[in-house]
Amino acid sequence: MDAAVHAGAAVELMAKAILVQVDPRLLFDDRDGHHVLIDLLVERGVATAQPHSYRGKKTVGAAKAVILSARVCEQVRPHVGAAQQALEARNDAAHAAAINDSRVTDQVTAGIDFVLAGVDSFVRDRAAFLGAEVAEQVEREVAQRNAALSSAAQRKVKRARERYEALVARLPDGGSSEVLTELGNRTPHAGDVTENYDCPACGNSGWLIWDVEIDFEYEGPDEYSNNAYLLFLGFECFFCSLQLNHVESDAIGINPRGEEAHVDGASPPP
Ligand SMILES: [Zn+2]
Repeated sequence: MDAAVHAGAAVELMAKAILVQVDPRLLFDDRDGHHVLIDLLVERGVATAQPHSYRGKKTVGAAKAVILSARVCEQVRPHVGAAQQALEARNDAAHAAAINDSRVTDQVTAGIDFVLAGVDSFVRDRAAFLGAEVAEQVEREVAQRNAALSSAAQRKVKRARERYEALVARLPDGGSSEVLTELGNRTPHAGDVTENYDCPACGNSGWLIWDVEIDFEYEGPDEYSNNAYLLFLGFECFFCSLQLNHVESDAIGINPRGEEAHVDGASPPP
């Protein structure tokens, strides 16, 4: 439980540190967006304005901080999926007092993977950041996790490719295009948002799948703010039946960035 909470906090703080490094105003949530924009226009000489104080303003939530940090920092971009896993564990632990014993070790290591990428982006020494006595062990665990994920995902891709080749070989001459057209017309059942993406196994057009997630924050009696964003679920291909969840996708280099989603009429949790 503690490990999940700490890993989530480490991910959130690292994401926010990356934002502050670029510009401290990136920390503030949407409602200060116009003030930030006016400040930028003043800096560019396009506008003159009274100074605006950011003291006591709300900062962005953890999930959004991770997405924003990936926009401004190329080095952490491939590790967003890992960061989201750690945040998921933290939310389960902090909000529902629940952890998944079989997953929590992996989720914590995933969080460290993101944090290490952040340390690298600051051109800081990992051993100095983590402490020399644990740095070696932490790096070894992250490397083992990434290698295991990557080889498991590659095995799935290889099996899917073999399945597709076997399918094409069984098709009668001339009939193949009809069957393949039929497969190409299928669309995913899961996900709120989908987008075509070339399949890593068979080369046909598969699907990236996202859900719209909404974070609610309690602001005061009867007052909630919400922040909608896209959460990447994974990849699916109907030609070769390859299905990869977001962890497996990440492990073979499919890591589309999450984006803010605009959802009208979102209501607070009961
Ligand atoms: Zn495929």
